[in-house]
Amino acid sequence: MQHNNSERLHEEALKVIVGGVNSPSRSYKAVGGGAPVAMERGQGAYFFDVDGNQYIDYLAAYGPIITGHAHPHITKAITKAAETGVLYGTPTPHEVTFAKMLQEAIPSMEKVRFMNSGTEAVMTTIRVARAYTGRNKVIKFAGCYHGHSDPVLVAAGSGPSTLGTPDSAGVPAVIAADVITVPFNDPDAFKDAIEKWGAEIAAVLVEPIVGNFGIVEPIKGFLELINEYTHNAGALVIYDEVITAFRFTYGGAQDLLGVQPDLTALGKIIGGGLPIGAYGGKKEIMDKVAPVGPAYQAGTHAGNPASVLSGIACLEVLKQKGVYEHLDRLGALLEKGIAETAATHNMPITINRLKGALTVYFTNEKVMNYEQAENTDGELFGKFFKLMVEQGIMLAPSKYEAWFITIAHTEENIEATIHAVQNAFEALAKE
Ligand code: PMP
Repeated sequence: MQHNNSERLHEEALKVIVGGVNSPSRSYKAVGGGAPVAMERGQGAYFFDVDGNQYIDYLAAYGPIITGHAHPHITKAITKAAETGVLYGTPTPHEVTFAKMLQEAIPSMEKVRFMNSGTEAVMTTIRVARAYTGRNKVIKFAGCYHGHSDPVLVAAGSGPSTLGTPDSAGVPAVIAADVITVPFNDPDAFKDAIEKWGAEIAAVLVEPIVGNFGIVEPIKGFLELINEYTHNAGALVIYDEVITAFRFTYGGAQDLLGVQPDLTALGKIIGGGLPIGAYGGKKEIMDKVAPVGPAYQAGTHAGNPASVLSGIACLEVLKQKGVYEHLDRLGALLEKGIAETAATHNMPITINRLKGALTVYFTNEKVMNYEQAENTDGELFGKFFKLMVEQGIMLAPSKYEAWFITIAHTEENIEATIHAVQNAFEALAKE
């Protein structure tokens, strides 16, 4: 497979765009380097790159593209938005319709606000929780990613629960010092953190099903325990459902698992591919937000008709019968095929899958927390990634990311993918 145009484009990009990419995760740094494949067109389950190569897409733009690319119903909605003006700076009927749709799907969101990214949504839930409780500290879980706002770019120190240090240059140490990081799926470490800092905690922030060190489900009772201890401490529970909402069911992970947070942050899928974020929660908490309350949050493009109409269309597609069954069925086929191939070639593989999302870790060990995901073989993943790309299968260039199946994927796509995995494992076994 030729990548001459991608390589040339990357050289040009490096001259004008820092690192040649507009988001660090798009770089191939974590998979041994090289020019990232640049795409020109997406259609259904397929991508077409600037060299004319075709790929089956499991990147799905890191989550939002659950309907496949250029879904006709969404395309129609975006076209309508383009024809009727994309931004008014006034209320619109569309945003009310959309808010009602979200509220119906995720009932814990009694009041909603729209914004433009998952980063903004999470950042604001933290602000609102601080405004509501009058406290500053936040507990988060190691390896969960919540966007790039200051309070969530915090690394754990050593020990089961620790006050944070900045994970990025430019984040003030005083901000990181208000964030406590605890391992995911570790009830004792969580209880310990609440015991130590409970009276100062404004919120506990968690991906209810993790998507950012691969797909990792909470152990039985973990989310219930978070709710109980957090509420007893007088603090709020925030679910970051930027990846999980409408991913596994028509609703949030909270609806799938039957545990409700106080505040929820959304993004990705709910924009149907256009930029969006949203947050919401209990009315009395949301009433802290301006113009009703004293916590400020605003946005020129917030609730813009293009993103909202695209989001409504996306949810309409997802609401159709059989959508999540299709994702689950193909996910199960893919998991089975990869697991059988791994057994044949003696590949050390662990697959975490929930419905149409899965992560293939290069390890024989279970992966239930970030440390275990960190300990999987990144070098082997890097080689696997490149072997897959060369066969026209596009994955995210990181051992920590999920493969996302879309409703446009077919059984034939899954069979072709398993065949490519077979070839890749065969090549890796020979090394
Ligand atoms: N939260 C989670 C769980 C995410 O996965 C991401 C993005 N990968 C974000 C927040 C940030 O969203 P955005 O990139 O839209 O700012």
